Amino acid sequence: SDYLARIEAAQGALNAFITVDRELTLAMARKADASRAAGNAGLLTGVPIAHKDIFCAEGWKTTCGSKMLEHFVSPYDAGVVERCTAAGLVTLGRTNMDEFAMGSSNENSAYGAVRNPWDRDAVPGGSSGGSAAAVAARLAPAATATDTGGSIRQPAAFCGVTGLKPTYGVVSRYGMVAYASSLDQGGPIAQTAEDCALMLNVMAGHDVRDSTSLEMAKEDYSRDLNQPLKGLRIGMPREYFGAGLAADVAAAIESALAEYRKLGAEVVEISLPRTELAIPAYYVIAPAEASSNLSRFDGVRYGHRSQNYEAYFEEHNKEAKEEKEKVTLLEAMYETSRAEGFGWEVKRRILTGAYVLSHGYYDAYYLKAQKVRRLLSEDFQAGFGQCDLIAAPAAPTVAWNLGEKGDDPIAMYLADIYTLGVNLAGLPGIAHPVGFGANGRPVGLQLIGNYFSEARLLNAAHQFQ
Ligand code: GLN
Repeated sequence: SDYLARIEAAQGALNAFITVDRELTLAMARKADASRAAGNAGLLTGVPIAHKDIFCAEGWKTTCGSKMLEHFVSPYDAGVVERCTAAGLVTLGRTNMDEFAMGSSNENSAYGAVRNPWDRDAVPGGSSGGSAAAVAARLAPAATATDTGGSIRQPAAFCGVTGLKPTYGVVSRYGMVAYASSLDQGGPIAQTAEDCALMLNVMAGHDVRDSTSLEMAKEDYSRDLNQPLKGLRIGMPREYFGAGLAADVAAAIESALAEYRKLGAEVVEISLPRTELAIPAYYVIAPAEASSNLSRFDGVRYGHRSQNYEAYFEEHNKEAKEEKEKVTLLEAMYETSRAEGFGWEVKRRILTGAYVLSHGYYDAYYLKAQKVRRLLSEDFQAGFGQCDLIAAPAAPTVAWNLGEKGDDPIAMYLADIYTLGVNLAGLPGIAHPVGFGANGRPVGLQLIGNYFSEARLLNAAHQFQ
């Protein structure tokens, strides 16, 4: 309840949470106490955490940052939540996020922007901005998050904390509101790599309810934390350190790499030649999948149902010049419910997605993007022929000011250049703090590993920390 008091005190300044529910939290805490009293406590029993508001949790409002799900109380637990609860973790609340995880600054939330605890004029990053801000402000020791195109690594970097995006398929997507299913992956944000390892130990594991969940033996992700880094080859992709990278971020990363050398690592230059294609490929594939996933929010089965659809039906049909322009009452309900329930960025993605999937454009956009996706994976595999881990910035700049990119979606998309490739290839990546750049805002270094190298990524970050 110390944490609950801190959350309440910081809410006005940071807006890191969408929902806190004292009763639900205290009930979980009592259960943890009881299992401790009964001698059944595990390593993390009673430890409080926050969940990104994208993970369904029984009895909790699960809004996904959208007005569409304003009143949705989940009747069941997501796989991740189920595992956390089984481990005795106590849910402190539900963290703020960009609507349906679409965004890089948390300004697309229907529940207001989140502020960066290091500098309240700055964005916390997104889409898991609430989780990163909560951990950075010590409102929770750890939080769950998701990363479809950088949404764990970039906010972790902007808020000076550690975030791990696992290999695609390691963490169950069951009960995680779907954005772009072939890219979405849950993972932890915490102060340290060690805490991320403990969280991943809880979060990871096969789930038959997610068809892309991997069947693999249980791993202890903290097993290698204390391995020395001697001989580790860290690749620096030329394309990630060229024009476009701000000088303050480049400097902080250079000194971090110098530190890694001191720890015994060897830094080698590599090339990921098709890096710049990650943005166009991602911003075709992600909206395409989103337009399909978000079609379920129709006001019938899920989500906001407009109160105004009958009026719209009358009005629209009165003005319709031709019969084919008219709508049915049901169509009027879909249209008004979706118009009212979704924010601008979400609508932009749905429209883009529907367009790139439409007959006549499919080959030119969607199919092309899938081919680029393959090429990007091949680049990474060639890179891993020369090194064990790849070092990269998490973002081209430190956190920008609130409102700075608000009306420029393209500028926001371009800021994702260093994170998207990892999702398109399904690789794991970690972001950990390495210092400060302009205006005293945190800089994060991203390390990318080959498939299933989570323990190694955590090892490197832990040795650095
Ligand atoms: N900024 C990216 C987007 O808007 C990433 C989002 C994410 O990882 N959820 O799609």
